[in-house]
Amino acid sequence: MLRPQIPERAAAVVERIRDFLDAHVLSDPDLSGPERFREILPKLQKLRAKVREAGLWAPFLPEAWGGLGLPLTEFAHVSEALGRSPLGHYLFNCQAPDVGNMEVLLEFGTPEQQQRWLKPLAAGDIRSCFSMTEPEFAGSNPVHMATTAVLDGDEWVINGHKWFTTAADGAAFAIVMAITDPDAGPYDRASMIVVPTDTPGFELVRNISIMGTPGADHASHAEIRYTNCRVPRANLIGPLGSGFTIAQKRLGPGRIHHCMRWIGICERAFELMCERAATRELAPGRLLGTRQTIQNWIAESRVEIDAARYLVVETARRIDEVGSSGARAEISAIKFHVAGVLQRVVDRAIQVHGALGITDDLPLAWWYAHERGARIYDGPDEVHKTVVARNELKRYGVDVR
Ligand SMILES: Cc1cc2nc3c(=O)[nH]c(=O)nc-3n(C[C@H](O)[C@H](O)[C@H](O)COP(=O)(O)OP(=O)(O)OC[C@H]3O[C@@H](n4cnc5c(N)ncnc54)[C@H](O)[C@@H]3O)c2cc1C
Repeated sequence: MLRPQIPERAAAVVERIRDFLDAHVLSDPDLSGPERFREILPKLQKLRAKVREAGLWAPFLPEAWGGLGLPLTEFAHVSEALGRSPLGHYLFNCQAPDVGNMEVLLEFGTPEQQQRWLKPLAAGDIRSCFSMTEPEFAGSNPVHMATTAVLDGDEWVINGHKWFTTAADGAAFAIVMAITDPDAGPYDRASMIVVPTDTPGFELVRNISIMGTPGADHASHAEIRYTNCRVPRANLIGPLGSGFTIAQKRLGPGRIHHCMRWIGICERAFELMCERAATRELAPGRLLGTRQTIQNWIAESRVEIDAARYLVVETARRIDEVGSSGARAEISAIKFHVAGVLQRVVDRAIQVHGALGITDDLPLAWWYAHERGARIYDGPDEVHKTVVARNELKRYGVDVR
């Protein structure tokens, strides 16, 4: 296996995380996945306390906020280690969308917003969600939306219809993207506003059933209606009209987190695939791994995972160097490429396991169903491919719009 060198401090954290997951999570059949999230919550809370005691809490957060202060290039490796379990990121308080919301509040929140929302989020005392996509509009073009926030005295009055608000069930607040100036240019029309979920007019219509399960708590995606939801003017995040600028900043590091989490999933699926190939007998003494088709899948998966990791780590370095907008094409490239690797590796691992592969005894079926969304959320493949192709064609003097 070829892999980029992990910086020394991150390597130590990664090793401790692997040990923790092996000892407490991967060996526990109750914790194979988030299907019964609410039922296993007491167990998860105990494990979260253990993570804190071990000094491994929220590695991406600055130390002043109770984290380990790892920069993006180091946290990327941690995200991979956590991805080995579908519950890893939650246990270490690095789960989407809270991680993105914490980053937004850290960079753009006022001191009051940070005390009120970031502090309990960083401590893991509350959860949050991010409400942008609307069922009536193509989420691929996020500037196209109908939710409005209108100032009335010292309050924003919010009206709108959102869906796929991940983890809204049980969240303490939503960061809502709403149009605050309909007359401004497309990228300056919207703002992010904090809406506590106990605000009158905030209605969680349903947890949307996905691939046969509506999920619950952190492991869910909700449809939400905002009807004359009134929140203080001070709940606006950043300058008026900066919603898309903030979203763009949020998405760069967010895609590194996702891609490295997917690589962690790939590694676990790969381990399971190899273990099965090395132990399953087709006939006495004739192992599955002796078949060339299986060997092809192992070889192809190994190289695809290793290559994907190099791309993501290099992209994280580019973001550190030139920022998210300077690394836009690279970010788009890893987003669609790694989502494809994830889908292929998990599919091969399932096939190698035969019927066992689609049971819930292993995490493979969960990933197969619930990570299908990887090719859609944070921008579908096709949109990211357009970004990469446009960037390439520019070198040939063509500006494709
Ligand atoms: C698991 C999951 C979690 C999510 N979590 C959140 C969340 O927490 N908060 C939130 O606000 N949203 C969330 N979303 C929504 C997500 O951001 C949108 O689904 C995504 O932006 C795509 O929008 P859409 O579903 O409206 O698809 P559409 O925009 O309707 O696109 C449909 C399809 O059209 C094709 N297409 C689109 N644009 C182009 C193009 N330019 N060229 C060629 N083909 C194109 C693609 O194949 C695409 O899949 C989540 C989605 C999923 C699946």
